[in-house]
Amino acid sequence: MRIARFAAGDDVGFGVVDTDADSGEEFVARLSGHPLLGDIKPTGERAKLDDVRLLSPVLPTKVVCIGKNYAEHVEEVKHITGESTEEPVVFLKPSTAVAGPYDPIFHPQVSERVDHEGELALVISRPCREVPRERAADVIFGYTVANDVTARDLQQKDKQWTRAKGFDSFCPLGPWITAGLSLEEVQDLGVTTTVDGEVRQDGRTSQLIHDIPDIISYVTSFMTLLPGDVVLTGTPAGIGPIEVGQEVSVTVERLGTISNRVVTRD
Ligand code: MG
Repeated sequence: MRIARFAAGDDVGFGVVDTDADSGEEFVARLSGHPLLGDIKPTGERAKLDDVRLLSPVLPTKVVCIGKNYAEHVEEVKHITGESTEEPVVFLKPSTAVAGPYDPIFHPQVSERVDHEGELALVISRPCREVPRERAADVIFGYTVANDVTARDLQQKDKQWTRAKGFDSFCPLGPWITAGLSLEEVQDLGVTTTVDGEVRQDGRTSQLIHDIPDIISYVTSFMTLLPGDVVLTGTPAGIGPIEVGQEVSVTVERLGTISNRVVTRD
């Protein structure tokens, strides 16, 4: 099931994205309630997908990110971030970095190199801490697509990653949450990033150094995750700069595509 958050006129709500069997057109069937509170019901209202604006499918209290989780990417950023470690590298993006699936990415004037990082993201279903590997699936509401946009020069300069990773709009998410997939069904998905149509990153989630149960178990060993929190699983090799005017798209197989144009803030 694909659950989107959308705006239609002044109205914001959740809906299930589906395809009309007769016309083949995609539509959003509006839900009452909040999917993460488990009280959703169909309202009977329906709108064409093209007629609504998709928003970030969730508003997390925090975005937890795993760094250096694909071996070839570890190689390409070694000079920036140092050697790889046994334990996952974890950092946070502020909730205010989150943007919608087709919203602009604002290129900060202070950075001369802003990079794309296409990633598989998890959405957490319930408050959880100290989750063992074998219970990881129980705390995942669903999966979505993310771009861990990074001011690479500031990451290098600051040592801490908070500014480099934390600008407003540096975490586009969407286009919806895909719920109901098992861990097995997401363990070998293609993760592809294109810039103006040119393929830059083309990895598979089977290449993750730390798999999803490991990530959940490790993060919750020191931090409580809350419903709607988002966990980014790391980016495959092929990171590179995005310039003002370019459009960057991230696709995760079975989950969809987010596309964001890079703009300056007027
Ligand atoms: Mg990343």
